[in-house]
Amino acid sequence: MVLVPTMGALHDGHAALVRRARKLAGKRGNVVVSIFVNPIQFGPKEDYSKYPRSPSQDLEICGACGADLVFRPSAEQMYHESRSVFVDESSLSQRLCGASRPGHFRGVCTVVAKLFLILRPDVAVFGEKDWQQLAIIRRMVRDLDFPIRIVGHPTIRERDGLAISSRNKYLTPEERAVAPDIYAALRKAAAGGRVMDILNAGRRMIEKISGARIDYLELVDAETIQPAKDFRRPMRLAVAVFLGKARLIDNILVPPRPQNL
Ligand code: AMP
Repeated sequence: MVLVPTMGALHDGHAALVRRARKLAGKRGNVVVSIFVNPIQFGPKEDYSKYPRSPSQDLEICGACGADLVFRPSAEQMYHESRSVFVDESSLSQRLCGASRPGHFRGVCTVVAKLFLILRPDVAVFGEKDWQQLAIIRRMVRDLDFPIRIVGHPTIRERDGLAISSRNKYLTPEERAVAPDIYAALRKAAAGGRVMDILNAGRRMIEKISGARIDYLELVDAETIQPAKDFRRPMRLAVAVFLGKARLIDNILVPPRPQNL
């Protein structure tokens, strides 16, 4: 069985994951999509209650993309009111979104571990859009011996390059018009020669975007999510940007260099 965990408000990015799951499962296997807006991964000042929800459209998308089952528990079904056990990753989750959103990855790991135990998939598909999340889930599966294969799927983008996200709905038309400049900046910066210049170039370009405020821009080792030191290993240039009411994240591969530059 192949599982695609989501928080609903499904869009073309999620749809690509479900179609990928369908291929991985084959004709005989089952594809399960979980839809659960997980309260414990939101901070007290974050958008849990306002997070977009579109239940009937979600079911249509799941059906059209070949899902066999949609698992949509309530918060009360998932969490006992006196819950006291959580899954905490203690290294990869220290930086990037983990630093900006304390407790976020504890919430993510806990809910994903619970989904794995409830649904017992053989394979689970996650998007590269949330690169740090994908790396943390891989680490959790390795360290806790979950017998599950984790498959990463490339980021699905709008035609203008903006990574598709449920939170793009928060953008005004003006903000939406400049939002693709974030990915354009990542691409240009990542193509730079000397690794130290990549961050400076990226920061300069993103700061020029009207209304944008950088939460973080970091070049990290793609597997360990520590600041990149060995440039012969794959790296990820990862960014979070506040734009109006939205906090947008994106990341891009920075290929390994033949030597440390
Ligand atoms: P979410 O519903 O935002 O928690 O996302 C559920 C899954 O869909 C996660 O594995 C995300 O990384 C993935 N995902 C969200 N947006 C995209 C996208 N634009 N491209 C690929 N995967 C995505």
